Amino acid sequence: MEENIVLTMRGITKLFPGVKALQNVDFTLRKGEIHALMGENGAGKSTLIKVLTGVYAMDRGEVCLDGGEPAMIRSPQEALRRGISTVYQEINLCPNLTVAENLFIDREPRKRGLIDWKEMYRRSGELLERLEVAVEPTRQLGDCSIAIQQMIAIARAVDMRCKVLILDEPTSSLDDDEVEKLFELMRRLKEQGVGIIFVTHFLEQVYAVCDRITVLRNGELVGEFLTAELPRLQLVAKMLGKDFDDLAQIKSMKETERDSRQQAPLLEAQGLYCQGRVKPFNLCCYPGEVVGFTGLLGSGRSELVRTLYGADRPDGGTLKLRGKPVKIDTPLQAMMHGMAYLPEDRKSDGIFADLSVRENIIIALQTKKGIFHPMGRREMENFADKYIGLLQIKTAGRETPIKSLSGGNQQKVIIGRWLLTNPEFLILDEPTRGIDIGTKTEIQKLMLQLSEQGMSIAFISSEIEEMLRTCSRMIVMRDHEKVGELTGGDLSQEKIMNTIAGGGSDNEQ
Ligand code: ADP
Ligand code: MG
Repeated sequence: MEENIVLTMRGITKLFPGVKALQNVDFTLRKGEIHALMGENGAGKSTLIKVLTGVYAMDRGEVCLDGGEPAMIRSPQEALRRGISTVYQEINLCPNLTVAENLFIDREPRKRGLIDWKEMYRRSGELLERLEVAVEPTRQLGDCSIAIQQMIAIARAVDMRCKVLILDEPTSSLDDDEVEKLFELMRRLKEQGVGIIFVTHFLEQVYAVCDRITVLRNGELVGEFLTAELPRLQLVAKMLGKDFDDLAQIKSMKETERDSRQQAPLLEAQGLYCQGRVKPFNLCCYPGEVVGFTGLLGSGRSELVRTLYGADRPDGGTLKLRGKPVKIDTPLQAMMHGMAYLPEDRKSDGIFADLSVRENIIIALQTKKGIFHPMGRREMENFADKYIGLLQIKTAGRETPIKSLSGGNQQKVIIGRWLLTNPEFLILDEPTRGIDIGTKTEIQKLMLQLSEQGMSIAFISSEIEEMLRTCSRMIVMRDHEKVGELTGGDLSQEKIMNTIAGGGSDNEQ
């Protein structure tokens, strides 16, 4: 047996009603390594971690610490006592307490029974300095950035002498600089011998910071690999399994796309604008095509589509649908005209967290029908089941609260919601951001299928590559203005970048 093993999990099996979340999974963590746990949404990553931290009891298997006898970890408190700490994406600290108080909650240094504040601040300062986290111990936690809050959660774990540090999707809400700072901290801890389990779906991050990768698929172990020996494409293939050919399939679907421009446009905007958000633009969208909107963050991509949808009320210009002038000042009007909009921020704009999958699916159609035409229970259930099946939404059932689904599956529910309204014009603003690569591929495929059936789709993504894979035309935005439109042979990464940069593309308008 290897010397430096901190954790061995063997034959872990965990069943939920109707779902085998984990089947006979092995996982090994060594001292001073950063070990990525990867897999598509629903692969079983979080369940494995919850078994390890005593949140769930496993059905079969064993967990050994430091190469010792199998240990029973019955609760998160017990996991903590045994040196296993978890930092979740939603930070479980108290925003209204100071940094120091958060570091020492439930273990405050005391003098004659009273909290020794001086000592607490001193030790906090020392700890933060050692980990090079730049923040004052006296600061209120809620005033710190999410990145700093996460580092404080990590510092707390480290000070409690954790041997195993689990980071479950810690980078989703961080910007590039913050991610880099977090990585520096992770590397420092690794040097101190901490074993780190890093759950993420960002491939670049895995390659930037991890030594080893364990891949799960459908609750089963695919394998453990050294990062240096596993090329990216292979990692993707392992996560996706036999569906890997889908990527090639997408490309061929796009190539067989008919020339939709021979038809009359579905939507025509002329000089449409919204003060301070998007400058006057002309735009035509045809049935059966996917049009991409690209540009730097903040260039006005979202604002343009919001203006089409009436989510931002236009200040001037005209809009025609199927050749007829229409006035769309509100999303409800847009919906009545056969438009649908999947917003960028699904957490605040899209999801009704406490409602079930069924309720989340039928809500847009119900709104469209109006409250005086309530849908029957059976009808709602049938619709929900249809879209759960069609979009392969991984959920225990239609009555499961949406918040218990993974991000990618929540996104599919929202897409299902809008498909149910049977739109002719579908706006998808970053539908694939922050979701795993398998679901991403499915969503791209779905877009192409829908467009083949005649739907017109407006697609925004920060990943130019995925737009090139799906779009037949790209609108380029810069400083809140439409500055270019590329099609055919001009649809290349280079041309797009040039247009974004204002580097004198022939297509400048
Ligand atoms: P990941 O974290 O890799 O996205 P999870 O571990 O969350 O995957 O989920 C694995 C599988 O177990 C999924 O099919 C998921 O729907 C199911 N699952 C997870 N937690 C529960 C639960 N509390 N009840 C029922 N099913 C669950
Ligand atoms: Mg998870």
